[in-house]
Parts: sequence; structure tokens; C-alpha cells
Amino acid sequence: MTLVTVIPGDGIGPEVVESARRLVDASGASIEWELRQAGAEVFKQGLPTGVPQETIDSIARSRVVLKGPLETPVGYGEKSANVTLRKLFETYANIRPAREFPGVVTPYSGRGIDLVVVRENVEDLYAGIEHMQTPGVAQCLKVISRKGCEKIVRLAFEFARAEGRRSVACATKANIMKLTEGLLKRTFEEIAPEYPDIESWHVIVDNCAHQLVKRPEQFDVIVTTNMNGDILSDLTSALVGGLGFAPSANLGSGVAIFEAVHGSAPKYAGKNTINPTAMIGAAIMMLRHLQMFEQASAIENALLVTLEQGTLTRDVVGDEGAASTTAFTDAIIANLGRTSSAWPAREYRPLKLPEVSSEPALVHPSTRRVAGVDVFVEWDGTPDQLGSAMERLVETTPVELRLVDNRGTKVYPPTGTPTDCVDAWRCRFLMRDASSELSDSDLLALLSRLADGHRFTHIEKLHEFDGAMAYTKAQGEE
Ligand code: NAP
Repeated sequence: MTLVTVIPGDGIGPEVVESARRLVDASGASIEWELRQAGAEVFKQGLPTGVPQETIDSIARSRVVLKGPLETPVGYGEKSANVTLRKLFETYANIRPAREFPGVVTPYSGRGIDLVVVRENVEDLYAGIEHMQTPGVAQCLKVISRKGCEKIVRLAFEFARAEGRRSVACATKANIMKLTEGLLKRTFEEIAPEYPDIESWHVIVDNCAHQLVKRPEQFDVIVTTNMNGDILSDLTSALVGGLGFAPSANLGSGVAIFEAVHGSAPKYAGKNTINPTAMIGAAIMMLRHLQMFEQASAIENALLVTLEQGTLTRDVVGDEGAASTTAFTDAIIANLGRTSSAWPAREYRPLKLPEVSSEPALVHPSTRRVAGVDVFVEWDGTPDQLGSAMERLVETTPVELRLVDNRGTKVYPPTGTPTDCVDAWRCRFLMRDASSELSDSDLLALLSRLADGHRFTHIEKLHEFDGAMAYTKAQGEE
């Protein structure tokens, strides 16, 4: 027996999880379910994480979770229990397949959509590092690591191989965010040649959205950063019939969590009308993860046959003639062993999870230099006042003021163009002598002089690694 932690979750969660569980059992898969709680009730009992220790212990033992949707009730807990689970077990990849289903009519029916979005699941803007820089200016750090990129890119290629897919597209905004989004693009381009059997290409993420609406059948696997993937994968769910049909897997090196993309849809809770296909799809992905390929394909084929027979839930056909959640599940169970010639399930091979060094640093430059510093300050005067004050401040120091900018646009020395400034500014100081570097003691001396009369909010060192600039220029900077 293989141990799986099952979390029924909130709202419609218990109904969809029960449907998936019945099907897994009926397929003959040998699973021992360990029932554990998380979500609304746990928050209400006063646990601010929404995830009790005994649930964490169970997952640490089983390493595989089938999870219903979890709510964060208003007034309880600061963080979502879903995010807590993903972060606790470092499930760095979110995998969301979207395929056309028989009987589910959409504007794309007949086009053969069958794609997977592989989304980085931990880093990027979702690292959740946010600060108010001034009372009126907020900032969120977009954190992207070489290690995170390597893991997700390798996983995307391995996933393509496991599913017998022909191409992987990398969707980024590297044309604007050259260092962060660019790191994924560069990593992708470096690793792709290791997978010569898979076609690889880069697409700018906004064009990817456009192409997905125009000609979605051109895509097979799309690998992308967290924020892009969040948006693109909701778009791809909608292409094939919406949330009732969208499963997902959160994969990490140690733990895998399988769930539907949808939430707890509280208005349908207990009504026995919702579509369990998304959760059934998650259970199918779980069985493949456990290398129970036969049982997974049996359920997938039976699901396809059932939909083809016209047994459909309320979200697809409306109230008239809709199958209830339990009747739909019963129909799939009755179809176990059947396959549809028009709608076959794919052939799968075991997924090889990428091995990436667990050392904190993956990149070791042979030379490094601190070329200067960006000091961010709160200031409610004009650009010229701030710029000339900063120039006076560094007159006799090793650094010179390169520029002052406002939200990334150079405003000092004056550019002659109107910029609608806010009270958060960046002052960029560079070493006068390009062959020497800014020492920490000179930097601290600069900061202490600056703090005497100005309010600084944070600083960023301007590095050069292997002789290359490791920071970007401001808009308008020479
Ligand atoms: P939702 O629960 O996904 O429901 C939105 C709408 O999607 C429903 O009203 C329904 O549309 C449709 N829908 C969702 N699942 C369906 C299914 N299985 N079958 C048929 N239709 C389905 O989104 P929400 O209302 O924004 O979120 C409710 C709660 O769930 C929130 O507390 C949220 O935080 C939580 N949530 C949890 C997760 C998770 O655990 N991973 C994910 C998302 C949201 P119609 O109204 O058109 O019928």
C-alpha cells in the first residue's frame, strides 16, 4: 500500500475529493489514505497558519498529498494555508495541463488543444517581500535565482519527455526585466541543448498570451516565471472549459501536492452539483507521479468515455439533464476498462525529477567589484534640489552622483522632459576611478553623511561580476 495524505478542504472540497478518491480505489490502485485537516475550520480553531502539525507530520511521512481547496476565512490568519503548504514543502513547480475534452463545447472545440503550463511556484513577486518605501509608494521584490530557474527549466524538459511531448516554449518578459526574467531565458537557452529531442523556443510573455488565444494548438509545454504562469495558466484553463476541468500538481524534490485549480466555490457546497473533473485530473496526475500508470490511464480513459457519452455536469450543460457529482462519478466507475478510439489517453513514462545542487550558491564568478551604490531616499522637494544636495554631499568622496531617478526614469541632471514625480527617489553613486571599488567603510560613511538631513529607505550595491554590469541602467541613463 502507498501512503497518501488526503485533505478534503473547504466548501465543495469534500465532494470533489471524495469523487476522486472513489475512482482511485475503484481503479485498483493500492493507496492507504491518511485523512488530515487544513483550512477554514483549522483557522477558526485559532491556528494562524491553517495547517496543524499533525497534517505537516503526515505529509512529511507520505510525501504525496491529494488536497481539496482551502479557504482563509476573513478575519483569521494572515497567510493562505495553500501558500503555507507550498512553501513549507518547497514545491517549486506548479504544473497545469489544459486539454480539450469530448462534449465540452468551447470556441476552440476541434482544435486539439493539449498543453501544459509549468510555472515556477516559489520565487518571483510571490516571495512576498513587500515594503512601503514612503507612506505613498509600495515596492515588491521580484526575486529570481539561477537555482530556481535551473530546477524549473529542467523539470519542464523532463516533463515533456515523460509525456512524449515535442516542444517546450519559455515565456518571459526578458526584453524589459533583463536580469530577473532574463535569468530564466538565459538558463533556458543554456539547458535546452541538453534535450536535443525536444524543440525549444522563447516567446515574450505578452505575445504568448496573444498566441494562446489566437492559435493555442501550437503550444505543447510552456515554462515560465511565477507571476506569468499564474496568469497564463488561468487563461489556458478557460480555453478548454473553465475551472471545472483544470487540475494541477505542485512538485518539489521531496513532496508533491495534487489539487484542482478551482477554489471552494462555497455557494455550491453540499449541493452535489459541481464538476469533480479537475480533482479527478489531479488524482490521475498523482497516480502517474506514483508510477501507477495503468490505473491512471484506466481512470483517464473512463473519464473521456463518460464525457463522450454525454454524461455532463451542470457547469457544462446547465440545470436541465445535468448529472450530479455522484452520478457523474458512478458513470466513470462504470466505464473503467473502456477506452475511446476518438479520445485516447497519452502514453506516459516515469518523470525524472531534476537534480540540482543543494548548495546555496550555484554561480561562482571569478572576479567581482562594487562599482557604486544606489541609495533610495524619501524626498518631497524637486529633482534639482535633491540632485544638487547629493552632488554637494559627495564632492570630496571617492564617488560621484551619476543620476537621480524617479520610478526608474532619470530626472537629474535635468532631461527637459516632464516626469510626474513621487516622493521615492533613487540616487546613483558610481566610483570616480573605475579601477577601484567602493569599500564598505566608504559606503557607510556616505550613508551616515546622507542620513544627516535626508531620509534613506534602502540601498542596493552596484556589482560587477566577471567584469559585467550586474545592474540595469535607469531610463534615460547614458
Ligand atoms: P472558486 O471557488 O474557484 O469559484 C469560482 C467559480 O468557478 C464558481 O462560482 C463556479 O462558477 C466555478 N467553479 C469552481 N469550481 C467549480 C467546479 N468544480 N465545478 C463547476 N464550477 C466550478 O473561486 P472563488 O469563489 O474566488 O474562491 C472561493 C474560495 O476558494 C476563496 O476562499 C479562495 O481563497 C479559495 N481558493 C482556494 C484555492 C486552493 O485551495 N487552491 C484556489 C482558489 C481559491 P459559477 O459561479 O459560474 O457557477
